[in-house]
Amino acid sequence: MKKFVYMFSEVDKTMRNLAGGKGANLGQMTKLGLPIPPGFTITTEACNYFYENKQKLSKEMIAQIEESLINLEALTGKKFGDVSNPLLVSVRSGARTSMPGMMDTILNLGLNDKVISGMAKKDARFSYDSYRRFIQMYSDVVAGVSKAKFEKIISAMKAEKGISSDTEFDSKDFQEMVTKFKELYQEDTGKKFPTDPKEQLYGAINAVFESWENPRAQYYRQMNGISAKWGTAVNVQSMVYGNLSETSGTGVAFTRNPSSGENKIYGEYLINAQGEDVVAGVRTPSPIESLKDVLPEVYEQFVTVAKKLEVHYKNMQDIEFTIENGKLYLLQTRNGKRTATAALKVAVDMVAEGLITKEEAIMQIDPQQITALLHPQFDVFALRKANQISEGLPASPGAACGQVVLSVEKAVEWTNAGKKVILVRLETSPEDIEGMHISEGVLTVRGGMTSHAAVVARGMGKCCVSSCKGLVLNEAAKTFSVNGKVRKEGDFISLDGATGAVYEGAIQTNPATISGDFKTVMEWSDEIKRLNIRANADTPKDARQAYEFGAKGIGLCRTEHMFFDEERIKAMREMILSDTTRKRVKALDKLLPMQQSDFESIYLSMKGFPVTVRYLDPPLHEFLPKEKEDIKILAKEMRMSVKKLIERIDALHEFNPMMGHRGCRLAVSYPELAEMQTTALMQAWCNVHTKHPEYTDVPEIMIPLVGELKELQFVKAIVVKTANSVLRKNHMKVDYKIGTMIEIPRAALLADELATEADFFSFGTNDLTQMTFGFSRDDASTFLPDYYSHRIYEFNPFATIDQQGVGKLVQMAVKAGRETNKDIHLGICGEHGGDPESIDFFERTGLDYVSCSPFRVPVARLAAAQATIKNREK
Ligand code: ADP
Ligand code: MG
Ligand code: MG
Repeated sequence: MKKFVYMFSEVDKTMRNLAGGKGANLGQMTKLGLPIPPGFTITTEACNYFYENKQKLSKEMIAQIEESLINLEALTGKKFGDVSNPLLVSVRSGARTSMPGMMDTILNLGLNDKVISGMAKKDARFSYDSYRRFIQMYSDVVAGVSKAKFEKIISAMKAEKGISSDTEFDSKDFQEMVTKFKELYQEDTGKKFPTDPKEQLYGAINAVFESWENPRAQYYRQMNGISAKWGTAVNVQSMVYGNLSETSGTGVAFTRNPSSGENKIYGEYLINAQGEDVVAGVRTPSPIESLKDVLPEVYEQFVTVAKKLEVHYKNMQDIEFTIENGKLYLLQTRNGKRTATAALKVAVDMVAEGLITKEEAIMQIDPQQITALLHPQFDVFALRKANQISEGLPASPGAACGQVVLSVEKAVEWTNAGKKVILVRLETSPEDIEGMHISEGVLTVRGGMTSHAAVVARGMGKCCVSSCKGLVLNEAAKTFSVNGKVRKEGDFISLDGATGAVYEGAIQTNPATISGDFKTVMEWSDEIKRLNIRANADTPKDARQAYEFGAKGIGLCRTEHMFFDEERIKAMREMILSDTTRKRVKALDKLLPMQQSDFESIYLSMKGFPVTVRYLDPPLHEFLPKEKEDIKILAKEMRMSVKKLIERIDALHEFNPMMGHRGCRLAVSYPELAEMQTTALMQAWCNVHTKHPEYTDVPEIMIPLVGELKELQFVKAIVVKTANSVLRKNHMKVDYKIGTMIEIPRAALLADELATEADFFSFGTNDLTQMTFGFSRDDASTFLPDYYSHRIYEFNPFATIDQQGVGKLVQMAVKAGRETNKDIHLGICGEHGGDPESIDFFERTGLDYVSCSPFRVPVARLAAAQATIKNREK
């Protein structure tokens, strides 16, 4: 028979996957001899079984629960449902990691009219208070009777009695409240409130398991990469009472300050209160230090226990406790959530204190979290006073505030006038890039986490909130409304790209720096990690940023992104729309000096670190003019009739631009393109390296979208011929590298052939994912949610690499490539390059480097160090 239920004494911290975080730690603390009210844990496997079994508890499980209940009665000397000495329990959910969005805890379960009659003889007020709390929680959590209805009853009773606080109710009031609550339950559900303690218990256990699939929990899982298969455990624990007397109470404390990291206990408590009264804000809690004056012995004991737990877990702890008649009980401990600043300080301090090693410090920091430090951050105190008006998806982190602009023109005009703006758009397109760049932040009505706005904003390190709820734009009237309230262009708003919150007005922000503890942790990461970290940087500005953040090279410089600039996009359009080679060469001649000077600045910014330049790969439609006015202007410049230009635009129309005339296909049709780019690049390299002979990098040319050896050979021949001629002219020699992107499944399949001609491979995992799955990144957000809810896919494969499918192609290509070219240099340059989980996969796959957007570089450095440590242990 499978074991589904464990007493706390049978569980320890290594059993987190089975017993959930809360259960595992309750067990561990029991083992450490700390004061824990006894209880048992129903495993996460039971949860999975529950879902496989039509959402019912099996006979086996019920038998094991009954047995554990008998054990619990023996341990506590109390009896479930007994009148003279009743056992009451709490029912608490607990997944592997702590998860808001799941079921709320039910306290005092096991009460009914019979049980209460005995209890009330000893302390009527306490008993009826406990009873009404139980009915309230149970009805809300198990039967879905809304909290508000209970609050209404409480308010009415307060008004009637002319009192303002719960503490002023007497036992008669609570008794009356119990009756009213039960009536409400019956009205709302059509059933009597359950009186059988066991029926109550099974109702609660079922509710915990069901809450694993509620929409809040599902959403939280997706946001945090938690698998639906993990399931949640249920903890059933005997009650202790913080609401019993003036020497009783309940509280929450961190072993260090979770916002600054300072090594000083930090927390709050309430005397004569139960459960979540502290967080619920019914009464104002007192700071933990003051407990020293109220219950000095309990305080001393608590401080000792807190230190003990911190030393044991080698991590800052977040501890929940209750005091019953002067006796301390611990109800939970877990690694405390902390701000990024605190995370770094705690890690560095603990190494200095000799508590942990550098490796343990590295493992303790969440790499995702440190992005928050690279963007301006809201002032904590200002944020507390702010008024939130809506929320959207946290598409790109950072804090931004400014005046709303509804168009790029306005953004340009106002920033030129020295104003700070937030660009608010229905959704963004390449035409908005400049506007996005100069804005403090971007807010969109539509679009998911991988929409244009989100991807571009993350690349730029720009704060972005997408898919904002209740936002309606009226561009004609230059107004917008949020949840019905009309506002106008120019009004101030603030965005929190880390949470998706949208606030009214301008909230004060503070800028970011890599210094102090942050710098220390980055240096440790660099010492430890095996993977090299490069950045995706297209402009000199991005390159400087990448260098600042510690990138050791550029893994992807997308040359088309150099042309989004207003002046340059014109020449680019001319080039694309030319109907003859002669005209195209003329347009290319305009582009050449721009491109060359950009390359020079990029080389200078990287100070001798290598730069991989990818040749032109524009989905053409991104560059074509759409507005009539733009077409007219362009026609004039190109000395073409508007009609003819429109014909040319139409001729270039593609049914599926993502699979159209792009990448190396352009160089096959128009070799002059590859010639121009090679000339610009090689000349830039020669110029910079003549001035800086100390720079040791060589040119790295990357051919995109290759799927066939002959295709690579064709383009490579043009590059070699042009490059050699530029080198001859400059009387210089260099062993430049020519490599290819692996982003089409066919390229991965034929990697052994391609490797004979390529010096390096860079896996373009955005396209590779798109083409392997056969759905586009930009459209997937419309149907992926259905796939998540049916558990077909569990996460967005554009954010975290699909190890099973796409990953298999990468592994295959790595192996095949090395077979025919043992020196081949291997890397990845998709969005996955900045994703910690994907980085771990690339470490295991044995790549040489990952390349990610500049603002992800510190994350990647830390994640790569973690991957090295993790995979070393195995
Ligand atoms: P969450 O996961 O939301 O923190 P918990 O299961 O930790 O929920 O329960 C919330 C609070 O309920 C605890 O901090 C504690 O104050 C109270 N609580 C839970 N179980 C018990 C118990 N057995 N005795 C007394 N209080 C309890
Ligand atoms: Mg809670
Ligand atoms: Mg808790």
